[in-house]
Amino acid sequence: MITLEHCQARDASDELAAFRSQFDLPAGTIYLDGNSLGAMPKDAMAHANHVIEQEWGRDLINSWNKADWWGLPTRLGDLLAPLIGAGKGECVVTDTTSLNLFKAVANAVRIQRSRHPERRVIVAERDAFPTDLYMIQGLLQSFAEGYRLELIEGADALAAAVDANTAVVVLSHVNYRSGYLFDMRAVNDLVHGRGALIVWDLCHSVGAVPIDVSATQSDFAIGCTYKYLNGGPGSPAFLWANPKHQAEFWQPLSGWWGHARPFQMESDYAAHPGIRSFLCGTQPIVSLSLVACGLDIFRQTDMQKVRRKSLALTDLFIALVAQECAAHGLTLVTPTEHAYRGSHVSFRHPDGYAVVQALIARGVIGDYREPEVMRFGVTPLYLSFADIWHAVQHLKAVLDRREWDQPKFRARGHVT
Ligand SMILES: *Cc1c(COP(=O)(O)O)cnc(C)c1O
Repeated sequence: MITLEHCQARDASDELAAFRSQFDLPAGTIYLDGNSLGAMPKDAMAHANHVIEQEWGRDLINSWNKADWWGLPTRLGDLLAPLIGAGKGECVVTDTTSLNLFKAVANAVRIQRSRHPERRVIVAERDAFPTDLYMIQGLLQSFAEGYRLELIEGADALAAAVDANTAVVVLSHVNYRSGYLFDMRAVNDLVHGRGALIVWDLCHSVGAVPIDVSATQSDFAIGCTYKYLNGGPGSPAFLWANPKHQAEFWQPLSGWWGHARPFQMESDYAAHPGIRSFLCGTQPIVSLSLVACGLDIFRQTDMQKVRRKSLALTDLFIALVAQECAAHGLTLVTPTEHAYRGSHVSFRHPDGYAVVQALIARGVIGDYREPEVMRFGVTPLYLSFADIWHAVQHLKAVLDRREWDQPKFRARGHVT
């Protein structure tokens, strides 16, 4: 039997507990949606003021040099690199995840086209976050005629799907809905062993689980900064490309920021030889600047500690739901095995949407993903063991009292 006292005792010995004070969270809220939009680092307010008042307001256009706005995508890429096991100069923060996925897959397809033109299949999961599939579909229509997308049903189908026709495999490291975590090294070995290249979407794993794209010999990786990395709403995403492919770096959005000599104003495109070639046009500097605040917090810890607490919190969440809510027919969607679990916990419930709305009305913020999946993100830097206890008590109350069964909790907003 797990008790509140048990949870409080774990908080008392939590080596990451002090990090919560670096985030600005509203009182009375238990925030279980940091996997969708991370909480605000307290430094973000002062940093935003500095960028707007001083860099923009006072220094105006001088800030491209004086504040090195020009170098920001790669400076942030270097700050982010340790979180994914990348080296210096291998990563840029720019554009959106959707766009970066497009660029990375386009590059991978082009590399394969020159080496193995007979390989014409891109393998992805049907259960991938839809934008990933949509971007591949658009890519196939515009740049990769003759190629086709093959969707696999679940992780277990991967080994059978990758064969002598596969050019590129595109996978989410952690599945956005179920929280399933792929074994990156095992997948890379499989994919490379069969002559294909891999593009990883790290949106739900960066800042949540330890990642080593270099040691596992990944080819390309992309991901968000506004989820576990707390970069702010719509903050630019990142792209990493393995330097072993540098001679073949290429991306279709050949804008001037990716040019080798952008201020020579040449009429012909000549790509920058390095990772900057994945930039396109002028960056959203205010939003981009704020990415540093979340990354600065991660620099003070290491991902092994974050992972240990993440697993302890998700274990606790799963055990408490089993203990407190057993009568209510919640089906755990997230893998129970640590090796296959990311940092969120999902349950199916036929009225999941309304249950989540009723929880939000009580100050417990999770979210809902079709079909029927209630999703609870676990962010070890600003959640406590007692938070998990209280969240499950609210869930129990909502279910015991059928609080969710009201028309106001069934009305859908634009964003679920
Ligand atoms: C959040 C998320 C995205 C979002 O892409 P944007 O271009 O930032 O809107 C893409 N893929 C996955 C797997 C995600 O979790």
